[in-house]
Amino acid sequence: MDIAVIGSNMVDLISYIDKMPKEGETLEAPDFEIGCGGKGANQAVAAAKLGSNVMMVTKVGDDLFADNTINNLEKYGIDTEFTVKVPGTSSGVAPIFVDPESKNRILIIKGANQHLSPEDVDGAAEKLKQCSLIVLQLEVPLPTVYRAIEFGNEHGIPVILNPAPASKELDFEYVCKSDFFIPNESELEILTDMPVDTDDQIRVAAMTLIERGVKNVIVTMGSRGVMWVTKDDVQTVASHKVDAIDTTGAGDAFIGCFSHYFVQSGDVLEAMKKATAFAALSVMKRGTQTSYPGLEEVEEFLK
Ligand code: ATP
Repeated sequence: MDIAVIGSNMVDLISYIDKMPKEGETLEAPDFEIGCGGKGANQAVAAAKLGSNVMMVTKVGDDLFADNTINNLEKYGIDTEFTVKVPGTSSGVAPIFVDPESKNRILIIKGANQHLSPEDVDGAAEKLKQCSLIVLQLEVPLPTVYRAIEFGNEHGIPVILNPAPASKELDFEYVCKSDFFIPNESELEILTDMPVDTDDQIRVAAMTLIERGVKNVIVTMGSRGVMWVTKDDVQTVASHKVDAIDTTGAGDAFIGCFSHYFVQSGDVLEAMKKATAFAALSVMKRGTQTSYPGLEEVEEFLK
């Protein structure tokens, strides 16, 4: 095993609508699509598409979405031994309403994701110990995230913590115990209460985290690129100029690809450059997991 993603999976239920119904109103809508998502699953798929051996510790419900999610992970070669069904619970679902101007309204029902527990981390210990990297987000309960960080620390396995969606309740002690803390700009703003409108402001905000004991802060900045801040250095990789069609899941694309290349080489800057290319390719296509490229496409793009 190369990478363990301990986190969420969701099923996106995407309704393409002409307009939102008012209270008590029933309207027809032109189209509907089901997609596999969830930050954890997206990151796992991104790394697996590049060839990493990925395991996923996650929970699904006992509904018709459960097998769909498991089959989807397995389609990409992801190890699902610790993808567990929870009786009497729905899977995580995200009803999404997209209007003709491509504006989204999204609801998230975490369902089985809320049942992923610290015991589930320890239950997967034997296989987790074989991994070279643990990848975490915040769509599962915080105590589970904390246990996973501790587990990584106990076994000398580096930990990536993507604080998404941002939570003010995140215990800073555990942020400091992660090896790479990877927020986007708005998560950085929420977590630091500082402005993040310019690169300079982002650097200053990230530096406050470093001063409080975080080892590596990597801020994804959308079309502006990505900034890596440590105690001694600040490095920025610019985004590729591309025609962005759908940026959903770009952050997950970045993290999954960064994880893959970091495990392969241990070279952080190189992994950031590859992940910037991977994420750029992903925003040029509609969809989330289905928009993620493979290894050859990334290498070709960078030639
Ligand atoms: P999401 O929540 O949609 O998954 P995010 O806000 O977490 O995304 P971003 O910072 O928007 O993440 O994007 C992650 C990375 O994707 C960026 O650092 C950049 O490399 C790439 N990216 C995003 N948007 C664009 C764009 N318009 N053009 C080129 N690259 C982009």
